[in-house]
Order: sequence, then structure tokens, then C-alpha cells
Amino acid sequence: MAVTGTVASCKPSTTTRRGNPAVREPVAYLRTSWSNDPFARCSYSYLAPSSLGARARTMLAAPVGDRLYFAGETTSSEAPSTAHGALESGRRAARQVIDAAEEGEHIVIIGSGFSGLGCARALVDEDYQVTVLEGRDRIGGRIWTQHIAGVPAEMGASWIHGSSGNVMTRILKEIGDPSYTFDYDNVTGEDDQAMRELARYEAKLEDAEDPNETTVASVMPRDPSAALRTALNINYPLEYAAEPRQLSVMATLEGRDLKGPDLLLPRGYDRILAQVRGGIPVRMRHVVTGIQYGRDGVTVTLWDGNTVQADRAVITVPIGVLKAATIDFEPTLPDAKQEAIKALGAGLLDKLWLEFPKPFWDKDVDVIEWFDPKNPNLWSWWVNGYKAFGKPVLLGLNGGDQAHRLARASDDEVVDSAMRALQHMYS
Ligand SMILES: Cc1cc2nc3c(=O)[nH]c(=O)nc-3n(C[C@H](O)[C@H](O)[C@H](O)COP(=O)(O)OP(=O)(O)OC[C@H]3O[C@@H](n4cnc5c(N)ncnc54)[C@H](O)[C@@H]3O)c2cc1C
Repeated sequence: MAVTGTVASCKPSTTTRRGNPAVREPVAYLRTSWSNDPFARCSYSYLAPSSLGARARTMLAAPVGDRLYFAGETTSSEAPSTAHGALESGRRAARQVIDAAEEGEHIVIIGSGFSGLGCARALVDEDYQVTVLEGRDRIGGRIWTQHIAGVPAEMGASWIHGSSGNVMTRILKEIGDPSYTFDYDNVTGEDDQAMRELARYEAKLEDAEDPNETTVASVMPRDPSAALRTALNINYPLEYAAEPRQLSVMATLEGRDLKGPDLLLPRGYDRILAQVRGGIPVRMRHVVTGIQYGRDGVTVTLWDGNTVQADRAVITVPIGVLKAATIDFEPTLPDAKQEAIKALGAGLLDKLWLEFPKPFWDKDVDVIEWFDPKNPNLWSWWVNGYKAFGKPVLLGLNGGDQAHRLARASDDEVVDSAMRALQHMYS
């Protein structure tokens, strides 16, 4: 079984292009493809239309027989799909374990993302024996800080969303790292009229009779204009990693309100992760394929046939992995758990970081929006790394259908597609 992570490459492009000569070829790039990553199989969860509504998250979070505990962003009702929600969920699972466990028990934790490490830290602090099993050859899961042009290029989470009262902001202060306050309104290329039109439709979301089973698409026009499609793309696939037809209205209502601005981390998200981890050992390349549980404890089977015995297990793998059922549970998980796994969506958001010899774009904005009448949902939202980090880098994002389409393309094709968009934008 492959234990490599998300596709990430870095090399100069060889393609030559006509157009504005100021739009130079990139000298390096980093690309994600989270759906092709066997340890993620998605970027983050979303609430799909179902009779369960947001209850799907609490059903997934519920322990099974005081032996299996579940954490991870998908189990967070307060802050789903976020890094801080993941960390909080790991701490919540640790409290559940502590309530049930005898002193000094051995707890096995599957996954070393924020939820796994947050859980491990809380249990180690209470003197439990902890074994963290990680399938990849690195920690962090969907926190993965790479570097381009000497700046941290986040392949997973970039922002601390809602920095006031956020656990991530507290840790950032503890380690004394700087932050960059991101201003989504400092934007160029936004189609104000389309955004206003979208807001009028979105007002109808509040009136949906059954927000659990009604889709966001159902309150939108059936054949939106190209401009409205771009606005929809920015508010849904690029935020929820799923299309309006895949999202329930409840997906837009769940979770606690975020307070305070969003922050970027000029020194990298991995430094917060390292602070949470402390000195906790993680067994890398330990791919879990089976979990047997019963009154006497749990036996975790690894891909090479080896086993790990423990009193209890905390499972933090992403919803994409649970859906793919690459881990065999024995006995099979209760119906309620399986229903929750089925009902929750596995969304896709992918990133492309590009480094250029020098900036050719608007240097003073945080966001560059782009509306291509021929292909409205492609490369429609960019982060200006020059403003945030002082280096000539751009970050382009695609979500939902476009991200799935690009996930099937080669690196060269993805870079080429982005460069064609940039040529149009700056022609
Ligand atoms: C492109 C992208 C952009 C994002 N942007 C933001 C953002 O700006 N702000 C924000 O707050 N959040 C963002 N998120 C979401 C955030 O990254 C996640 O919610 C969070 O990191 C999830 O943490 P977790 O511990 O729940 O899961 P993970 O970090 O995925 O951890 C689960 C771990 O389980 C391991 N694992 C999986 N299967 C097995 C197995 N069989 N055996 C052993 N180990 C296994 C994985 O390797 C992984 O390390 C983004 C995510 C992505 C992908």
C-alpha cells in the first residue's frame, strides 16, 4: 500500500505561451490532489441532504461500547471542516476516554492530525499510555506545510478561521509566532452585481421548510447566468468543497458563529501542530487495516499483519477514509454509525501554489477573483502571496466539480490550465 501523501511537485514549467509577456512562466509549483490521497480521500466533510441533518456529526462522534471513540473534524458539531474543530474534537474524545477508563490504561490513537495529536496530548497529560499510529511518513494529516519561494505553502489548512477565542490563536500566542490578518474584502475582480444577486437568493435559505433535506441548489435559479455561477462557486465549492446540489441548507447553518478576522500564518501551521504534539512519539507508516473490539479491549491490525493491543481506541481518520471502508471493524460498526458515515459528504478543495520571477498582478489586494464567461468556475479565486508573505507567489483554489475534474489531470495540465487563466486575467 502506498504511504505517500498528496501529490506535490516542484519544477519549472516548459510550456511556452502567447499573450501578455509580463505574465511570466512559473519557476516552481506545488499542487495538491487530496482525493487521490489514500489517507484523506477528501479535503473535508460537508452536510449532504439527509434526514439526519447535523445529528450525523454527533452520531459519528458517539463512542461504541466504551471501547471505540471517534474524533476528527467530521465529528465536530461546533466547528466542522476546520483545523480548530479537529483539535477540539480530539480533546473531547480524550475527556470521553478519561470518563470511562481506569488509571494508566493503554489507549491507541489512529491518525496524527490535529484531532489525534490533541487527543494524545490530553491523555498523556493525565498519565495514560498512548500509542499513536499514523499511516503516512509524516504527521499532521490535512495540515501539511511545504515551502515555495521560502514561504510556507500550506497544502491543507491555511487560515485560522475566526481568530477571536480560537484555540489556534491561543497556541499561536504561546509560541510567539506572527500572523497576517486576511481581508476578504480587499479584493480585485469581484463581480459586485453577481454577489448582490446571490445574496438575494441566499436570503431564501432561511425560509427552507426542511433545511436537512433541502439542497442549497433548490433555492437557486435552475439556469444561473455565468456571473451568478461564479458567485455560487466562490460561496459554495470554494468554501464547503461541494456543489450547491450536494449541500443541504443545514450545511450553511451548522456550527458556531466565527468571531474575529481570519489569519494566515507566515511561519506555518506546522508550528502549531508541533506545539500540540510536544514530545509525543508517533509510529509512522503504520497503516491500520482492521480494528477488533470487545469487552476486554481492542486489537488493531496493521497492513503488514502486525497487531497492537490496547484498552481502547480513538479513531480520527477522515470521512473519506471511513466511507471507503479501508478499515475493517469487527464486529461491524452499529447501524447508527454506518448511517452517519453514509450521510456525511466528503468534499474536495485543491490548491495550486505558483512561484514567479516577479509579481505581474495587483500587489496590494489579498484576493484576486476572476470570472471567465466560458468557464466560470475555474480558477476563480486566488490568494495574493505577495501581499501576505512578500514573495512573488500566487495560490489558486478549485473546489467541487472543478477540483474533481482537475484531480484527473497531470501536473503539467493543471499548471497549464492555471496559466491560461492568468493570461486571460492579465491580458
Ligand atoms: C485543501 C484544504 C484546505 C483547508 N483549509 C482550511 C483552512 O484554511 N482552515 C481550517 O481551519 N481548516 C482547513 N482545512 C480543514 C483542516 O485541514 C482539517 O479540518 C483538519 O486538519 C483535519 O484534522 P483531523 O485530525 O480531523 O484529520 P487529519 O488531519 O486528516 O488526520 C487524520 C490522520 O489519519 C491518518 N490516517 C488515515 N487513514 C489511516 C489509516 N488507515 N491508518 C493510519 N492512519 C491513517 C492520516 O494520515 C492523517 O494523518 C482545509 C483542508 C484542506 C484539505
